[in-house]
Amino acid sequence: MLSVEQALRSVLASALPLPPRRVGLREALGRRLAEPVVSDIDSPPHDKAQVDGYAVIAGDVPAAGRELQVLEEITAGKCPTRAVELGTATRIMTGAPLPAGADAVVMVEDTEPLGGDRVRLLKGPPRPGQNIMRRAASLARGQTVLAVGKRLRAAEIGLLAEVGRPDVFVAGWPRVAIIATGDELVDAAQTPGPGQIRNSNGPLLMALALQAGADATALGIARDDPAALREKIAAALAHDVVLLSGGVSAGVLDLVPGALAALGVRPVFHKVNLKPGKPLWFGTRDREAGQPPTLVFGLPGNPVSTLVCFELFVRPAIERLSGLPGTGRPRCQAHLAREHRHRGERPTYWPARWAGGRGGEGAQVEPLAWQGSGDLRTLTEADCLAIFHGPDRVLAAGEVVEVLALDRDST
Ligand code: AMP
Ligand code: MG
Repeated sequence: MLSVEQALRSVLASALPLPPRRVGLREALGRRLAEPVVSDIDSPPHDKAQVDGYAVIAGDVPAAGRELQVLEEITAGKCPTRAVELGTATRIMTGAPLPAGADAVVMVEDTEPLGGDRVRLLKGPPRPGQNIMRRAASLARGQTVLAVGKRLRAAEIGLLAEVGRPDVFVAGWPRVAIIATGDELVDAAQTPGPGQIRNSNGPLLMALALQAGADATALGIARDDPAALREKIAAALAHDVVLLSGGVSAGVLDLVPGALAALGVRPVFHKVNLKPGKPLWFGTRDREAGQPPTLVFGLPGNPVSTLVCFELFVRPAIERLSGLPGTGRPRCQAHLAREHRHRGERPTYWPARWAGGRGGEGAQVEPLAWQGSGDLRTLTEADCLAIFHGPDRVLAAGEVVEVLALDRDST
């Protein structure tokens, strides 16, 4: 049986970056730049006032009490028509262009209007350059302001608008199709009848895929019937990634691998030495030239297995398709906050939470009272997965274990 590391390597070998997409600023949030962005302007475009007040010649105000003649009033968006000379000032508003001759702006709070066109400066002398932002002080025309690979947060979106880029090329991201399989499944809105359960994996996978930056489409529930399965999967294969849940273990109605084979999906591996998540199935299907293959994951049906397999294999694959390294959630070392009894040979990813503050250097982690792969409720209390290795053993409080941080994004 493949180890987690071997299985991940083989998934990533098929996960090739998708072509960049041109998007508007609304859609660009959180994406990675796929082109360098060069400014077409100086910012600010002119020497500008940083406060409301009076533009003056600093050397013309030797001390507090100086009275000046006001030449004109310049609001933002207007341009000065007169140069400031000795004995004069221009009333200026924040953002407006500084008139020729002036080399300082005195804030309005430090002045007193004298009626007519005269003003008195209550403090002095002003410092040359005070309250002025020089042309191109922030950025210059022709300057590369954002580099390829930069993650676009709110500040970057604002800057793109400032430099005249209402749209931009960003790294591509996958379209993911989600299918839950199982005769026992009903939708969240329904009350389960005898033997039935609600489909939690569909919405769970939708949330995980969206959070990982993919477009996700739910294709609903497929019955455990070869023809029904084939029909739903065929519709899903136009996507970059197909996520199926259930039907990959060893039961009589575990029909997913057969249905995938019938549709030309090439099996790459089935089963990984891992708990929960051992039955994971992975395969690929070639598409037209120039397009990377569709990645098909048959995730085990139990919700915690589904989440663990997503975090270990699907998230890194989505990252790779999106032009990222594909490291997945970060791992760290932490001390066990209490004793833990590990059973079994398989590496086990056990829901746990940070004890005494968030993870980091010297973090402590508390394994939760988890009831197994069907216990999604306990996972809602988890911040991380503590990783335990076989054979059977009691780990003492304080022992160091490896942890996969579910509350942190990839680095
Ligand atoms: P399977 O791999 O299809 O045998 O499913 C394993 C277990 O996971 C069974 O107990 C299923 O009822 C459960 N299961 C399968 N699909 C889902 C789903 N979409 N949501 C919640 N539980 C599921
Ligand atoms: Mg099933």
